[in-house]
Amino acid sequence: MFKKIVAHTKEYGFIFPSSEIYDGLAATYDYGPNGVLLKNNIREYWWKSMVQMHENIVGIDAAIFMHPKTWKASGHVDAFNDPLIDNKDSKKRYRADVLVEDYIAKIEGKIQKEVKKGIKRFGDQFDIDKFLKESPRVLKYKEQIADLRERLGQLMTDQNWEGLRQFILELDIADPVSGSRNWTEVRQFNLMFSTQLGNIAGEDGKLYLRPETAQGIFVNFLNVLKSTRQKLPFGIAQTGKAFRNEIVARQFIFRMREFEQMEMQYFVKPGEEMKWFEYWKATRLEWHKALGTPEHKLRYHDHDNLAHYANAAVDIEFEFPFGFKELEGIHSRTDYDLKQHQSLSGKKLQYFDQETKENYTPYVVETSIGLDRMFLSVLTNAYTEEIVPNADGKDSERLVMKIPAALAPVKCAVLPLLKNKPELTTKAKALFDDLKLVTQCQYDEKDAIGRRYRRQDAIGTPFCITIDFDTLEDNTATIRDRDTLEQVRLPLEELSTYIQRKTAMSGLLKSIQEDK
Ligand code: ATP
Repeated sequence: MFKKIVAHTKEYGFIFPSSEIYDGLAATYDYGPNGVLLKNNIREYWWKSMVQMHENIVGIDAAIFMHPKTWKASGHVDAFNDPLIDNKDSKKRYRADVLVEDYIAKIEGKIQKEVKKGIKRFGDQFDIDKFLKESPRVLKYKEQIADLRERLGQLMTDQNWEGLRQFILELDIADPVSGSRNWTEVRQFNLMFSTQLGNIAGEDGKLYLRPETAQGIFVNFLNVLKSTRQKLPFGIAQTGKAFRNEIVARQFIFRMREFEQMEMQYFVKPGEEMKWFEYWKATRLEWHKALGTPEHKLRYHDHDNLAHYANAAVDIEFEFPFGFKELEGIHSRTDYDLKQHQSLSGKKLQYFDQETKENYTPYVVETSIGLDRMFLSVLTNAYTEEIVPNADGKDSERLVMKIPAALAPVKCAVLPLLKNKPELTTKAKALFDDLKLVTQCQYDEKDAIGRRYRRQDAIGTPFCITIDFDTLEDNTATIRDRDTLEQVRLPLEELSTYIQRKTAMSGLLKSIQEDK
């Protein structure tokens, strides 16, 4: 299934391997004509749900290059490391912690297998919740998982790389490619890309490509506070590129070396951070659910090993075609970052509380999501192969991208029934000229109407408008709904409002508002 999705995204202009004519560059991808539209729409959904929908959240767009001290202060120079391990036989490189995580995922898979067996045997009578709580075999697996997680967490927190290697040997983990257990030492590897500033040689001119967008927000805390006169709690949102020299960058756009983040840091009064952590945890899940993502494909995963700056952290995981993986992180970052920047810059990064007449360093709760991972989750949910009745009544297979209408790259297509009838094409082009003033649409007159429908299905266009001979008589056209295949006839002058109403971002935003 995953392979099919990857091939589809290339064929239909969503994603291309980067610099493909030179055989591509590992773990970098380019967004094609439909991809860029979808990506912009996802970003807009995020941005509006944060900045437009909250009076106390404002946006910024900070530079990718930042003063090198930023990364010293944030801890990235000293501690932004992943443990890497090589297999001596296959010469493949892995993240040592991920090898253990994959081992744990296999045990989780065993639990799922037990559940499936039960369903097969007992059908509707099978009480899954009870089984998960009481089956001795499941409880044994759960205990094993908790123990392994705890041990991995401790080793990672202690950066105990030799211990991690021993752990891999103890679990008898084999190279997934070759099956060999001939492992090297575990070494730590800094994930930041560095470059050189102008003509300044050596360490003095060393610059980093930002590995996260968050620091651009922290260093602008005072500027934003002074220029907007916000009061706590308030948030600063930002979207933009981040760069990480990932050890193993596989799984398509899930893990790239250049990717885009959408982050929001919420500054709160110390002591109130857990309340806001819970608030953002729930709010962010609603954001995902508003897109119609099936609930069973989303889950929370509490962090076992907290980052050096955090006092609570949870991931929202999505079931990608290769299993449940992190889509978004919600972290309570304490006052670590502001205090660090205060100490290295010598500038006071505090908030004056009018009520208590006190100065203090706010605490921060952040939500951080990868735009590319979100893109992949939207594609995964959308990709549908189904059997539908043709116009002639016979069944046929179709491939349709059921992308939520507000995110769809193209909102509607205008199709004259026949290409060589100028009365139809003139009318259709005039309508297209009208619609493109208000929304992203396409005009297509090539091939039989059925094939044109399929082309639009393949890129997820929610509505196709057909101009036929009746249109010339009564100025109406048929609108075909991508998902239900229902066709309605509407006057031409109503089409623009109809399409806008059905595809508006405000519909999505309203559904999150109503859930609150
Ligand atoms: P992982 O454990 O998968 O490496 P992380 O915990 O290091 O991710 P964060 O530092 O919390 O990730 O970054 C926030 C978000 O940025 C992640 O939830 C993810 O969606 C996205 N992200 C992080 N690294 C990458 C990457 N290499 N490629 C694409 N997206 C990424």
